[in-house]
Amino acid sequence: MHIVVCTKQTPDSAAKLTVDEAGNVSWGDSPIIINPWDEYAVEEAILIKERFNGEPKVTVISMGPEEALEALKHAIAMGCDEGIRVWDEAFENSDTLATSYVLAKAIEKMGDVDLVLFGKSAIDSQTGQVPIEVARRLGFSPLTYVIKIVELDIEGRTITVERLLEQGRQVVKAPLPAVIGTVKGINEPRYPSFMGIRKATRAQYPVWTGADIGVEPDKAGAAGSGVRWERIFPPPVREGGAEIIEADTPEEAARILVDKLMAEKVI
Ligand SMILES: Cc1cc2nc3c(=O)[nH]c(=O)nc-3n(C[C@H](O)[C@H](O)[C@H](O)COP(=O)(O)OP(=O)(O)OC[C@H]3O[C@@H](n4cnc5c(N)ncnc54)[C@H](O)[C@@H]3O)c2cc1C
Repeated sequence: MHIVVCTKQTPDSAAKLTVDEAGNVSWGDSPIIINPWDEYAVEEAILIKERFNGEPKVTVISMGPEEALEALKHAIAMGCDEGIRVWDEAFENSDTLATSYVLAKAIEKMGDVDLVLFGKSAIDSQTGQVPIEVARRLGFSPLTYVIKIVELDIEGRTITVERLLEQGRQVVKAPLPAVIGTVKGINEPRYPSFMGIRKATRAQYPVWTGADIGVEPDKAGAAGSGVRWERIFPPPVREGGAEIIEADTPEEAARILVDKLMAEKVI
């Protein structure tokens, strides 16, 4: 059995995003980390591996420039078997359509994949589109918002999962191969062990280019993207302020507040 986890490098969740008047976006000098939602996908893959006595192979892939290595290293340190970076200058400026195309081509090249795991979204662009697009491109069963893998029947080639919906939980059974979008709560991601960190530091991370995975140039990068960023601009500075109501008692303060709200026709 072969499990693939897709992960993306993102700025730290505490990073402060700024956009200047020319539309240049900056995360400042924030550290680059594994997309936090992807840690649930990595953990789930490792849990499956452990449940089947270490037999399944877990490969982690990321489409991205050199900084994507950080995400791969973190996943290997947690317990994945191997990490592959998929990158070509032609992949720059990819929207989700082009990103999913490249990821699907890389997964196709592996050939023997039974499960592809994702986090629910990436904390920077946060469209949540990539998992479903990859499933569609590969023709794999698309299972999103998965909070529990109920049963993985490798011989019967089916998977049963619980999906977390606003209205409640939904149990779904689907044929393998499948794409799983995980949500927070499916597990508690482990911290990388000291041995894991050593393994991640020493591991080799092959880079697959467009030619390696048979990418057609007009389907990747800006050429393969349906979305254009026409304009990026900082939101207008919020105006307004706070007024502290001075009064001797809470009752008096409440009365003054009510008078002001009525004068403004708020109530
Ligand atoms: C016109 C345009 C140009 C863009 N140019 C760039 C650019 O130059 N550089 C850039 O970094 N971004 C660029 N983006 C943003 C980029 O398209 C998205 O970040 C990317 O497609 C993933 O979408 P998302 O972040 O919404 O992921 P989501 O769909 O929210 O993520 C869901 C899951 O997919 C995984 N995933 C997402 N992307 C990857 C990946 N690359 N490899 C492996 N797993 C992945 C996530 O880790 C997560 O598990 C551009 C977007 C547009 C519209």
